Amino acid sequence: MTERCDVVGVGFGPSNLALAIALRETAPACRARFFEAQDGFGWHRDMLLPGATLQVNHLKDLATLRNPRSRYTFVNYLQERGRLVDFINLKTQTPTRAEYHDYLEWAAADFGDVCSYGSRVVGVRGVGAEGRIDALEVDVEQGGELRTVETSHLVVAAGLRPRLPRGIVPSQRVWHSDTLLSSIEDMPYRFHRRFAVVGAGQSAAEATAFLHREFPDAEVHAIFGRFGYTPADDSPYANRIFDPATVDEFHGAPAAVRERLLRVHASTNYSVVDLDLIEELYRREYDESVRGDRRLFVENVSAVERAVESPRGVTLTVRSETRGSARKLDVDIVVFATGYEPEPIEELLPGLAHRFQRDDRGVLVVDRDYAIRTDDDFAPAIHLQGGTEHSHGLTSSLLSAGATRAGEIAHAVSTRSAAAFERLLVDEVAS
Ligand SMILES: Cc1cc2nc3c(=O)[nH]c(=O)nc-3n(C[C@H](O)[C@H](O)[C@H](O)COP(=O)(O)OP(=O)(O)OC[C@H]3O[C@@H](n4cnc5c(N)ncnc54)[C@H](O)[C@@H]3O)c2cc1C
Repeated sequence: MTERCDVVGVGFGPSNLALAIALRETAPACRARFFEAQDGFGWHRDMLLPGATLQVNHLKDLATLRNPRSRYTFVNYLQERGRLVDFINLKTQTPTRAEYHDYLEWAAADFGDVCSYGSRVVGVRGVGAEGRIDALEVDVEQGGELRTVETSHLVVAAGLRPRLPRGIVPSQRVWHSDTLLSSIEDMPYRFHRRFAVVGAGQSAAEATAFLHREFPDAEVHAIFGRFGYTPADDSPYANRIFDPATVDEFHGAPAAVRERLLRVHASTNYSVVDLDLIEELYRREYDESVRGDRRLFVENVSAVERAVESPRGVTLTVRSETRGSARKLDVDIVVFATGYEPEPIEELLPGLAHRFQRDDRGVLVVDRDYAIRTDDDFAPAIHLQGGTEHSHGLTSSLLSAGATRAGEIAHAVSTRSAAAFERLLVDEVAS
């Protein structure tokens, strides 16, 4: 018999973990089940570099902005770990990502009853007759077996997938930053002489600083198209773009205004680096030039045109855009810190995509409660946590709005479920 749940969540990263918390606190009768492809909880494990910090205030945790009295706040985590006072003495609002990972894992540990790990959602189908869709069937691959769960609410929080330049294929010597730590662990030997890191964002700068420190005899070449690393704009007025209330304003604005805001304020999130880290890298490079012992090279206004791998290394063709000339650079390892892109929703629901409404630019229409707008004969709801920048703004998949977004989706789920239950009662009385 097919299992039935009120809510099925795809993925169990911070977004759906926040939703599990919100449902438990606000709609405890709701039967929810989350499926996570990883074998256990993990939040960008391969980028938990020593000293790397969260880029958002810890009060924007899994719960505080929705319910500051929740058991699952970062402050309560600190209290339970016996570190609350010590943390205060640190005088920081941005804990290390390693500590934040421990916090997320601590919270996730309470939800083992609703989350199945090692379980990948491989497809979602509509159930109904005569063109009407009444519910969704979710196919899950678990230990080589296929399991199907029926639901009326699907919440997709599948995260982002690493983006590599066209023609670049990951290998033992060619990595995306998303696999940095495990790729280092899998290196056949550690005596590499030369690394290249491609990209100008936070991950690129972190990877450059990390490799430079971790391999004290190796050269590190940072290659990017900008003139210099650009600081992240976390000034207070710009930071309001991440406020929960901004989502209302953004969602209600004309498309052209939304597009302009995303463009103008991209520097709060994209291809930008914490100023401290920029200054640290500059200090290291300057210090090496004083000592005459260079091993950190920042190659700006440059692009990698080709990467040819051989058993002995990777030969990069690096074109300087100012000089207009290209040169060969032989490296042992190249790390592409070239960002991420949303998992395309259509790949998960190929048979349903034609029922989704799109605007005149062809992008999905997503209602304020994060549900994809469908045609009238489509009863179930599909909520998105991520992939909604165009409709809800820059917080689409960020931690900043995670708690409030989860609260809004939990509210929508329980309201829609209550309305459906009422309809059912009315139908039964009538028949
Ligand atoms: C290195 C790094 C640092 C970051 N730091 C910050 C930060 O400081 N502040 C901030 O706001 N944002 C940060 N981000 C942005 C990031 O998007 C969020 O931190 C956060 O991970 C979003 O949570 P999520 O649950 O939506 O997605 P994810 O954390 O990516 O989780 C998605 C989960 O879904 C699972 N999954 C995917 N497909 C399926 C499937 N078909 N079936 C089952 N499971 C599936 C994945 O295995 C994954 O565990 C960072 C991103 C990176 C890469």
